[in-house]
Amino acid sequence: MTHAIGYSRGRLGVEAPLVIIEAHVSSGLPRFSLVGLPEAAVRESRDRVRSALLQNGFVFPPRRITVNLAPAELPKDGSRYDLAIALCILAATGQLPPEPLRQYEILGELALDGQLRSVRGVLPAALSTDRDGRQLVLPARNATELSPIDRVAPLTATHLTEVCAHLNGTARLPTAVPVPLPPPAESRDLAEVQGQARARRALEIAAAGRHHLLLVGPPGTGKTLLAERLTGILPPMSQEEARESAVVAAVAHTGFNPAHWALRPFRAPHHSITRAALIGGGLNPRPGEVSLAHNGVLFLDELPEFSRGTLEVLREPLESGSIIISRAARQLEFPARCQLVAAMNPCPCGYLGDPERDCNCTAAQVQRYRHRISGPLLDRIDLHVLLPRLPAALLTGLAPTPESSATVRARVSAAVALQQRRSCVPNARLGDAALDRDCPLDPASVRMLVAAARRMALSGRVLQHLRLVARTIADLEGATHIQSTHLAEAISYRPLT
Ligand SMILES: [Zn+2]
Repeated sequence: MTHAIGYSRGRLGVEAPLVIIEAHVSSGLPRFSLVGLPEAAVRESRDRVRSALLQNGFVFPPRRITVNLAPAELPKDGSRYDLAIALCILAATGQLPPEPLRQYEILGELALDGQLRSVRGVLPAALSTDRDGRQLVLPARNATELSPIDRVAPLTATHLTEVCAHLNGTARLPTAVPVPLPPPAESRDLAEVQGQARARRALEIAAAGRHHLLLVGPPGTGKTLLAERLTGILPPMSQEEARESAVVAAVAHTGFNPAHWALRPFRAPHHSITRAALIGGGLNPRPGEVSLAHNGVLFLDELPEFSRGTLEVLREPLESGSIIISRAARQLEFPARCQLVAAMNPCPCGYLGDPERDCNCTAAQVQRYRHRISGPLLDRIDLHVLLPRLPAALLTGLAPTPESSATVRARVSAAVALQQRRSCVPNARLGDAALDRDCPLDPASVRMLVAAARRMALSGRVLQHLRLVARTIADLEGATHIQSTHLAEAISYRPLT
């Protein structure tokens, strides 16, 4: 045998395309070349593969060895192909039977002595292998990443020689055994947040309809405390949502932690974040914060401090639920259906409207500060709430204990179930076509909406969103139809500018 074929999986966005590895041995000057536009990391794998083979008693023939990774145009970063390359060389040189090799898709980095090191982002590969009917072979250290996923049972190995023994039929590789997940860490509870009844109500409406939310208030009024508790009042993730979020994390710089399985993500990037880190980027693009927050919450504190260019790129994902990154001839799409919670001070010093401290900002400064956020971005945020400074009685703990997250979540879940039955999507994602079908207004409400549009100079987009928020408020009440009280409350959350 002078020719052998093996399979592996690459990474392209959140996909794991099949990579075919061909090894060919021919006469000629001894040389080991890797072709298929491999990047520097793949070239380094030549040395690891050669060393691992020699150190384990295999013959590295002094002939011309060519290994081709196809398709050629696929970016092939990382050392994930080491093991597959080594096995193909062994098969092409008659040291392994070539047929069994084709039943597997193989991932794993080789140490110089043949031990297997873990590779990044195995989750999308595992889900794709499953669809194609081959079985995945993985470094044992990667196996725990797949524990929460149903129906995926890869073979695991710790050393090159174990995989060889399996392919030779002299031993069996073990199947990864699901590791029981630790109980989820207690999430922060709404019962810990005193006062701010109006902001709590807005948080509940936001959760029930998946609307974006803006919290405006002086420092110390609980904006961050409330934002952090939004994930705790959202309904539990479906298996599909859990899988999507896990895949995004698996291919991101964070990696996927199985302990976070089915927990809605809460991402709070600093305002100095770059555009690429927020929406994703890199030569072989990885997802950014907006995708890491997929199915969860993206919290942007100090919203006006983010660069305007950075905020503008958020408009696309907030509208469409995904982000498209263009690289050369290729376009990659990352999911980004997140709920935005933004927070800001009412003015640069933070004390505008504070009964106890003076604001020393000029009107022009306040104006400039608020205008750092563009109108189109503000239009996409349905609920705007002003948080007042708390009365001293609340801070000293004399007030009654506020409602817990579990109590609020029960109401939210009931409202979400209504939306699922009616439209199959949360209200915030209802398209234009569904608006008249699912959010009809009675004559009194139509008059109220027209008056608000004139008084507040609202755009058509904002008027549509007001109907969606009114629908969510009606759902929280269990009301079949939107009534003018629901619409009036929705209007009360419109901009403070
Ligand atoms: Zn001020």
